[in-house]
Amino acid sequence: MNQHHHIENDDKYSGLTVNSGVTQPPSVNPYLKPRRRKPLPTSGELVEGILKGDVTILSRAVTLVESLSHEHQAIAQEVIEKCLPYSGNSRRIGITGVPGAGKSTSIDVFGLHILKDGGKLAVLAIDPSSERTKGSILGDKTRMERLAVHPSAFIRPSPSAGSLGGVARKTRETIVLCEAAGYNNIFVETVGVGQSETAVHSMVDFFLLIQLAGTGDELQGIKRGIMEMADGIVINKADGDNIGPAQLAQAQYRSALHLFPPTASGWSPEVLTYSGYYELGIPEVWDMIDRYFAFVKANGYFDAKRHEQARYWMYETIDEQLRKHFYDNPEIQQQLARCEADVYANRRSSFAAASLVLATYFSETKTVL
Ligand code: GDP
Repeated sequence: MNQHHHIENDDKYSGLTVNSGVTQPPSVNPYLKPRRRKPLPTSGELVEGILKGDVTILSRAVTLVESLSHEHQAIAQEVIEKCLPYSGNSRRIGITGVPGAGKSTSIDVFGLHILKDGGKLAVLAIDPSSERTKGSILGDKTRMERLAVHPSAFIRPSPSAGSLGGVARKTRETIVLCEAAGYNNIFVETVGVGQSETAVHSMVDFFLLIQLAGTGDELQGIKRGIMEMADGIVINKADGDNIGPAQLAQAQYRSALHLFPPTASGWSPEVLTYSGYYELGIPEVWDMIDRYFAFVKANGYFDAKRHEQARYWMYETIDEQLRKHFYDNPEIQQQLARCEADVYANRRSSFAAASLVLATYFSETKTVL
């Protein structure tokens, strides 16, 4: 029987002819190439690209730094290690202020101001709150419109995942990569509403606090800690009707700063007014920052602070890794759950429970070693 024979073509179905259809393609598309994951670059390739200032490779390396995968972390750590000798040659400036203070508007203007004289600028951020970071990949680009398209600027939003300590460490590691790629100005932006200022303070040379006039929080206790960290306080939006209030706030901040103990650097923090939007007073802000760098480089504080920060990050990293190793251990996790229930029900004291879990951890670690 020929293969085109169809029973419907039988005499009893006369009047009706059925043609063979088109042969069906196999259900799997033979033209579709199996999707291969892009192979991971070697640390050598990444370092070579970074040192050449290749932005695509720098971004790729930063992505590995931010990744939680062990494989990515292993490469990232090698890259950081190899970039370290080429790092350090930059001004690291922390910029903080509450949302709406005008950070992005100001960073755009400050950035353009310093890039007029050449050089390169990387803008990084520390913001562990995932809600904001979700939108800020695009957000940051549009918020800093002119910098985003400037060939000498590299803008990278905050790594989103993880604890503040973890996010801060990744930003600090990203600074190393950016410096190796020739970025001689680093801005680290943070939202001035929490612990992240302390983290930023521990990785920058100069800490700039952007404030607004007339928000009533000038001398509030909550800001004291942040004010004490500031090397410069700048009151933004000193334009139009707001010039008077901005100058008043300036006077208030100045007298408040007099009450603070002298700074470790010997530098007296200054208070200036400016307008990011109307680009007024920008050279003056920058002149203050230039004078600060000249001052601390001359008195040795610049190097001393960088050494102290390096030491701080060593211990921070050790602390973080130890905690992670402890809490990631499945047996410890189970025991912790049991102990938590015991403590809650008053069957065991907190201290006895802690000793028990730690004893398990240490005995396990010994057997591993
Ligand atoms: P951020 O949340 O701190 O990054 O603040 P933005 O830079 O997004 O600014 C918040 C709002 O304040 C925006 O609507 C800006 O246009 C406005 N703004 C920023 N700088 C100035 C300024 O110098 N003067 C005035 N009048 N408005 C400003």
